Amino acid sequence: MDYMIGVDIGTTSTKSVLYDMKGKVMAYANSGYQLYQDVPDMAEEDPDDILDAVVEVMGQVIRKGKVKPQEIKGISFSSAMHSLILMDQNDQPLTRAITWADNRAAKYSEELKNNGVGAQIYAKTGTPIHPMAPLSKILWLRHEKSELFKQTKKFIDLKTYVFFRLFGVYKMEYSIASATGMFNILDLDWDQQALDLLQITQEQLPELVEPTAVITGINKRYGDLLGISKTTPFVFGASDGVLSNLGVNAIDPGVVAVTIGTSGAVRVVVDKPVVDPEGKLFCYALTKDKWVVGGPVNNGGIVFRWVKDQLFAPERITAEQMQVSTYDILTQIAEKIPAGSDGLLFHPYLGGERAPIWDAYARGSFFGLTRKHTRAHMVRAALEGIVYNLYVVMLTIEKITGKPKSIQATGGFARSSLWRQMLADIFEQEVTIPESFESSCLGAAVLGMYALGYINDLSAVKGMIGVTDVHEPNPKNFEVYRELLPIWIRLSEILEPEYKEIAEFQKRHGN
Ligand code: ADP
Repeated sequence: MDYMIGVDIGTTSTKSVLYDMKGKVMAYANSGYQLYQDVPDMAEEDPDDILDAVVEVMGQVIRKGKVKPQEIKGISFSSAMHSLILMDQNDQPLTRAITWADNRAAKYSEELKNNGVGAQIYAKTGTPIHPMAPLSKILWLRHEKSELFKQTKKFIDLKTYVFFRLFGVYKMEYSIASATGMFNILDLDWDQQALDLLQITQEQLPELVEPTAVITGINKRYGDLLGISKTTPFVFGASDGVLSNLGVNAIDPGVVAVTIGTSGAVRVVVDKPVVDPEGKLFCYALTKDKWVVGGPVNNGGIVFRWVKDQLFAPERITAEQMQVSTYDILTQIAEKIPAGSDGLLFHPYLGGERAPIWDAYARGSFFGLTRKHTRAHMVRAALEGIVYNLYVVMLTIEKITGKPKSIQATGGFARSSLWRQMLADIFEQEVTIPESFESSCLGAAVLGMYALGYINDLSAVKGMIGVTDVHEPNPKNFEVYRELLPIWIRLSEILEPEYKEIAEFQKRHGN
């Protein structure tokens, strides 16, 4: 038998799946690690914890699948975007991995936005100007940790670190590079203006390779540990976001991937890099000729979790007694309320927001409350608010890529049929829920099969995943949403200056 391994280096854990060449899952492993938050706004990980986790999960699936070394045709990688590690002259890390969730560079991304340089760089790199991006982080480190900055031989990311330890070379593929804010997506090279701004040289960054690039000759120690041969090909792969589009079969023009997990995202594949004139969307590489345009959203399922914990604590006890999920009880409660929640609107900005408004000061609100409204209205309005927000991201994408044709939706939200139908109604599109298990691992494996010549086209993924549910938009509902959406959008625009005022009040008072 022939097998392919997909590995996904995530923010909280690394996952690995062993597939047969038809995409069937043969074995799965997962290993978590600590997130360090020693000071406010910090979100770091130990790069060696990640390396250990990667080796651990690869080893586990090989053992669980009982495969022989020669049966492993390739190992291909997905990884979280935007991480940054500073390496010294002796190739030792000077920092932990500073993850996308680290916000300490906020002052510098704000500066880049205000002085116009950010817009110039965004237009070439396709990475929104934000503290998440290595561009902002390196600027912050240059100013505030200049000793570390001066000692840096290489600025790399987590996946480059793992490959460096396994193969002894500093190479970064286009997909991860395209999320650094320093990679010119039109030239497929590091952007000189970005490097000049940071006062770093090309030599301080990894060599660029295509996501389909292959490397062999694993360091003997790791080869022995894993029981794989020196000739086993490793594929550099891509980032988790774009690979998840591939893993849910959202790669054809007009097929949109919507994710509502803890956070959320809307993404669509295009065949050449494009940027948003307003700087609100990302454009990241999947391969040299497939690019993913979209927007990441902070406030996804985490907002439903807040509703559950803060407004429905008693129901949790009932749910525990009945041995059902509290989310299911809340969904049943919300189901009794008509679409549009009798005119109650909710803006889900409990954690500031990235797309569509890119405003760290944004705060949540209920609007339109009357004495008639109940907690049941609040839960329905919250679920609708999360979807309205994603729909506004879709509207921004549409301006560039045209109207969507269909939606492939994934994430924890898909456990609720009410919420799935809401997505179809608000987007006025057919929504399909693919049978997705670790879609970024599958995406990595499929990209690996393509890179190594086992499939001719990425669309082979179609035959590898099933469908669990399909929802058609209900005209009775979408007509209501059509009335409410303009009010919802106007409100968030009107509230923008007030978001800042209230956020500053909260900060002054220690919140
Ligand atoms: P992650 O993005 O961290 O991998 P998930 O994709 O599992 O997480 O999504 C978690 C979210 O899914 C929760 O915050 C919650 O909002 C939502 N969720 C979980 N279970 C249900 C359910 N039964 N019905 C509706 N939503 C759910």
